[in-house]
Amino acid sequence: MRAALCLIAGLALAGCSESPGQAMAGEAGAGLITEAAQTIGQAAPEALADAVDSLLAEIAPDAEAAPSPEPAAQACSGILKQGGLIICDGAPGDVFHLGSVTLTADETGSIQFGLARQAPLSLGVRARALEAAFEIAERRDELRTVPGFDCDRIDARTPEQRAHAARSWEIKQAAFAAFHPGRGALDGFIRPSSAPPSSPFGPARRYIGVSKTSGEPCESMSVHQGYDMAAPVGTPVVAPAAGVVTLADPDLYYEGGTIFLDHGHGLLSVFMHLSEVNVAPGDVVARGAVIAKTGNTGRSTGPHLHWGVKWRNPASENRGADFYIDPALLLDLPVLDVADAGGVLEMSAP
Ligand SMILES: [Zn+2]
Repeated sequence: MRAALCLIAGLALAGCSESPGQAMAGEAGAGLITEAAQTIGQAAPEALADAVDSLLAEIAPDAEAAPSPEPAAQACSGILKQGGLIICDGAPGDVFHLGSVTLTADETGSIQFGLARQAPLSLGVRARALEAAFEIAERRDELRTVPGFDCDRIDARTPEQRAHAARSWEIKQAAFAAFHPGRGALDGFIRPSSAPPSSPFGPARRYIGVSKTSGEPCESMSVHQGYDMAAPVGTPVVAPAAGVVTLADPDLYYEGGTIFLDHGHGLLSVFMHLSEVNVAPGDVVARGAVIAKTGNTGRSTGPHLHWGVKWRNPASENRGADFYIDPALLLDLPVLDVADAGGVLEMSAP
């Protein structure tokens, strides 16, 4: 898996030379200072304060807007594979164009851009000191057919089930629309459970069966949007990265006990089928903190932990365009010492 981890150097020119904009700002500032010195030299003492004020007023906006003498180099790294994540570093406020998406670096100077399961195999990236086309490795997810499907267990049929499903949908949509700042994937991700993986992200499943109530055949198609771990009921679930809890509900219709954890940069962990939810919306949790216990709740077909990671474009209002990425690929990112990287205290799992 390490081979999938790529590092891409930014343009070597970045940080080596002063930009034309800076040179001009420097000259303009020098001109103003000369002019003010002449004014001050000729003025009566009571006019000195006015002259200084007007000088400050004139040069202050330039001084604020002037970039640091050596602008931060820009480079991208991450997992260049469908379902992966690109992380670009630069200076705070730097604008990055990735394909048709434009993202602005936050105070960490980073942007994080998810690659959909079926993302194009080439991605153009443009920024102040970076222009490149990156090759994206192709996924090869299988199509599985699952017979003996119990349609009545999955579908919401009765009015009560439908109302429960509709309520659950609204709760989820509200949480998907909530964004919090955070370090996203900058510090890496750890496994949310020590249980072994049981089902990967990506395969399409075609379920076929017969309804026990109506006797009619049924078929349903879905793509597995998470990473399943074969955990017996009651296994502790830890936060794979620091984040803010945006949803904590013991009983959503399909998902059962569910937690949404917003890591920042649009990255959201989703945990389903939990038997116990030990956090509340608004809680700030450190990487490694216990947040829940695994279960078999909702429309689950057996005890397991489902861990999904959704990438939501923070610059867009269109939540329908958001997509899930592959959590297993995030586990390949280097896991940094959080105390060094972000100053967040790490809690250890019991
Ligand atoms: Zn799953």
